[in-house]
Amino acid sequence: MIIVKTKKNLQDEIKKRKEKNCSIGFVPTMGAFHKGHLALMERANAENDITIVSIFVNPLQFEPDEDYDSYPRTLAEDKRGAEKHGVDILFAPPVEEMYPRPLYNKINVMNGTDVLCGASRPNHFDGVATIVLKLFQLVSPNRAYFGEKDAQQIAVIENMVEDFHVPVDIISVPIVRDKDGLALSSRNKNLTASERSEANVIYKHLQRAADRIRTGESSYDKVKEEVKRSLSTSTSGVVDYFDILFFPSLSKDQLRTDNRLIIATSVKYSKARLIDNIMLDVEPRVR
Ligand code: AMP
Repeated sequence: MIIVKTKKNLQDEIKKRKEKNCSIGFVPTMGAFHKGHLALMERANAENDITIVSIFVNPLQFEPDEDYDSYPRTLAEDKRGAEKHGVDILFAPPVEEMYPRPLYNKINVMNGTDVLCGASRPNHFDGVATIVLKLFQLVSPNRAYFGEKDAQQIAVIENMVEDFHVPVDIISVPIVRDKDGLALSSRNKNLTASERSEANVIYKHLQRAADRIRTGESSYDKVKEEVKRSLSTSTSGVVDYFDILFFPSLSKDQLRTDNRLIIATSVKYSKARLIDNIMLDVEPRVR
């Protein structure tokens, strides 16, 4: 595995491999690897000749009151994890390399961002779409891998790729969970011991909502209200949202392109805001 820190070195290394007709799988991350990140790398490695991983804590996607400064940065450990999981090139640029001067342009995501995390993070998905497009331009991957834990992010990226005709396949990878069901996240480290021991109620409530729908409850509003109320009383955290929407449109009414239903929630603990979701397949809408 080689580690590169500049756009120039990255592109030189990619050019050599493209000349040999290697297919490229790309995994963009913010580092602090856990098994969720490693699953993306394994999948990319299995499906492509070359796997490229980026580690970049992107200032543009953090709101002013969020944890940009305290976001875990564990590069030495991450290098070992990437190497073990078949990564060929690790791109870990400093901030000045990605943003050498103030931006003149950024992506404004206009749809699907007034719900779920977007409702309380108004600039977040503009920042995500902008950095992912910048990285796609540098890497020109054949396939890019994203975790379903950040399902709204996948919807935003898929729409961005379609709007700007970016020639990349977006591959979504199922959520990796701890033994008790808590979705793995770099932010789980910021939970207190008692918060961590109760945090599995999040997944339990998502499962409860999914079971209600699978067993025939057709009023999603009813399921949403009941399960949200129960989750609020079962955790010391504050439930930011609990919603049931069609995917990937993230709308309440099913569009023709929607083939899944997403049950998604976010809970704010003292030093960590956690998100999780379950997706269910639904019959496509005929008309
Ligand atoms: P991050 O470093 O948080 O930006 O995440 C990098 C990628 O890893 C994103 O595509 C995430 O959706 C994905 N990811 C994070 N946690 C998990 C998880 N528990 N299971 C699967 N993918 C994950």
